[in-house]
Amino acid sequence: MIIEDFLDKKLQKILNVKAEKLNNAIEKGIIKFFEFHGFPALQFKKGVGNIEDGTVIYFRDKIEVIRGFPKTRRTLMLSPTLKNHFKDKIVIEEKMNGYNVRIASIGDEIIALTRRGYVCPYTTKKAVQIMDLNEFFNDNPDLVICGEMLGTDNPYVSHYYEEIGSLGFRVFDIRKKISNEPISTKEKQNILKKYGLPAVRVLGTYNITEAPSKIKEIIKEIGEANREGIVMKDPEMIISPLKYTSSEAHADEISYAFTFPFDFGKDFFFSRVIREGFQAYEMEENEEELQKRAHRLGEAILYSMVDTIKNVSSGNQAVEDMVIDVENEEEAEAFLRHLHDLGVYALITKFEDKKAIIRRIHQSTTDKINNFLNGGLY
Ligand code: ATP
Ligand code: MG
Repeated sequence: MIIEDFLDKKLQKILNVKAEKLNNAIEKGIIKFFEFHGFPALQFKKGVGNIEDGTVIYFRDKIEVIRGFPKTRRTLMLSPTLKNHFKDKIVIEEKMNGYNVRIASIGDEIIALTRRGYVCPYTTKKAVQIMDLNEFFNDNPDLVICGEMLGTDNPYVSHYYEEIGSLGFRVFDIRKKISNEPISTKEKQNILKKYGLPAVRVLGTYNITEAPSKIKEIIKEIGEANREGIVMKDPEMIISPLKYTSSEAHADEISYAFTFPFDFGKDFFFSRVIREGFQAYEMEENEEELQKRAHRLGEAILYSMVDTIKNVSSGNQAVEDMVIDVENEEEAEAFLRHLHDLGVYALITKFEDKKAIIRRIHQSTTDKINNFLNGGLY
């Protein structure tokens, strides 16, 4: 079948999107053609109709549609939002801080996709090393494993977890190819257990009336342990999940962003400060607790920024080093090419003992700070 014919007739049926919309998106470059391991494929760079960005379609012996991972909405207030959004009960899972990965089998291979729908060579290799996925995919070729790649040797989001160390994976959703329909939390846990796959921690199932006060306690503990937050889920996974994060996680992200202040959009800072405002209000904090939060927020902003200004003033660039664990230098270079394809400027600064240091240069931050230090006006 010629591809145009396919796009007009078959794809619109599979995806339930009008041919006109699909063609329009192809013309605009929103849906991009590429070749993967000798087979044609499509990638959605933005959402089209009800199809999420990050969706990829592989044309193998069979057409494989792996939908993008849906955006998770955030709640600023626990009460009354949980009661409005969910019904009866919610399952509280830990929200772990790494990067989103979808793992699927296509043809005779297992691939790991990052958020926007790229096959990351490092992630693919590590995912199959960390987990034995063959049995799961032999039995369930039409399911997609959605999870978080975690740990310190992590080229996208490096965060230390005691139980993870350098690199690990936790599954949080199992979804169906084509429809993107998630399976219930209970069934998910059973399947993961059956195949020996690692799941995110479940912190409890609560009635929506008792949930806000429980979550207040949970989120404090999570923050104190330097962990990120929670995702609240309808046990049946029919109502969409919501996320809620700890003050410490907000400070961490603010601190990271102010280390490279001119490489982030202003919204990034604003939204994180807003989260703190509502959380402080809802937690009904006393003078001392509120002051602690204020200090954490202020320090996250100022200390990191001053550090970077000092650093640039001594002639350095604003850089970020990431470690990846690779067999050889070629593997590190393949990862670097992948980053360049994503439009990220980075280089390898060191390769030793099977670890490569990948350095990301934050050019805007470096240039702007230099300009101001040399008398430039703001
Ligand atoms: P979004 O995913 O909402 O577009 P984002 O990319 O900034 O925003 P986060 O703010 O980290 O992502 O929140 C959502 C992400 O949290 C999910 O995409 C997923 O990768 C991650 N996550 C970690 N733990 C869980 C969990 N238990 N359930 C669902 N998602 C989780
Ligand atoms: Mg995240």
